[in-house]
Amino acid sequence: MSIFETVTLESESALKTRQIAFSLANSLYGRPLTIFVSGELGAGKTTFAQGLAEGLGIGEPVVSPTYALEQHYGDALTHIDLYRLQADQAAGFLAASEDHPGIRLIEWAERLPEGTQEGPCILIDIRELSKTRRRLRFRLHDVPIPPPSDIRSWITQAALPAHIRKHTTAVARVAGLCADTLLHRGVFIRKKALVAAAHLHDMLRFCDFKSLDGDAFYTPTPKQTAVWKRLKEAYGQPHEQAAQRFLTERGYPGIGLIVRTHGTHGMQDASFKPTSTEQLVLSYSDKRVMFDTVVTLDQRFDDFVTRYSSGEESDFSRSWRAELKRIEKLLFPDGPPL
Ligand code: ADP
Ligand code: MG
Repeated sequence: MSIFETVTLESESALKTRQIAFSLANSLYGRPLTIFVSGELGAGKTTFAQGLAEGLGIGEPVVSPTYALEQHYGDALTHIDLYRLQADQAAGFLAASEDHPGIRLIEWAERLPEGTQEGPCILIDIRELSKTRRRLRFRLHDVPIPPPSDIRSWITQAALPAHIRKHTTAVARVAGLCADTLLHRGVFIRKKALVAAAHLHDMLRFCDFKSLDGDAFYTPTPKQTAVWKRLKEAYGQPHEQAAQRFLTERGYPGIGLIVRTHGTHGMQDASFKPTSTEQLVLSYSDKRVMFDTVVTLDQRFDDFVTRYSSGEESDFSRSWRAELKRIEKLLFPDGPPL
């Protein structure tokens, strides 16, 4: 059974609600997607839609579609307001826009009868705590997360060496801490999905080993080598994409996408470049852990230089280091949490 995550954030102003919605746009893993928003008149549903549209890069100002019922912003966003409809009308009206290609945001989702919320969707409930305070509760039914028992059994089945398991455990801890810091600042992030991805990010790391028979650092048993060969034949290289294929095959494409971009390939191939908040945090957390010890970015990159290029930093390493520092600043403008 998959897990579906819930995120709760508080907003103390209309601007904050817009910013939260803006940050949700950096945490989406597939289209089409329906976002159901419920909350009383004046809760901030349209304010939320405006922030989301801005985050999606829509230039036009988003207005309340209360009188038009439905507003299209290219293929990117369909904005619907069910305020004036009864339950039976609302369901019928919604069915007409079912084959939309992008994001469909629906205000007054409480107008819909139970069971309408099918397919990849996010349910948002905005509650008024006071004149300006709001509680936003997100139920994320768009990115299924594997349960811990599956994560453990996949890692066991992959015969992952203990030092890699220690590394992924440490990266998951750092990623969780980064997520807490962002949530505290009111940035939307899927902490559960991120931590699951962090535990799995190197689950097929051996697909990129020079030899599956071992090296100076680690000698697998013949049984391990046989398991690795079979998995490498099935899922290929690089190990990030291998893990993505493995996870997608099992019904977890969103977790696969988070895992895909944690390595070096993004430097040459845009399809491996981290862009979502969870992708950025995983890439970053991975570089803040050397084996299983938390280090700074500079310590980690200095270690690369001494281990792989005998003291002289390559142009590639220099630009990768700069890219990670850019990500650190972007995620944590007030300095990293650890
Ligand atoms: P809805 O679409 O849910 O009816 P709107 O977004 O149109 O609500 O309006 C929300 C109103 O509440 C705006 O006037 C906005 O300035 C005000 N407001 C005050 N505090 C907040 C907050 N924390 N979040 C959103 N809106 C807020
Ligand atoms: Mg509205």
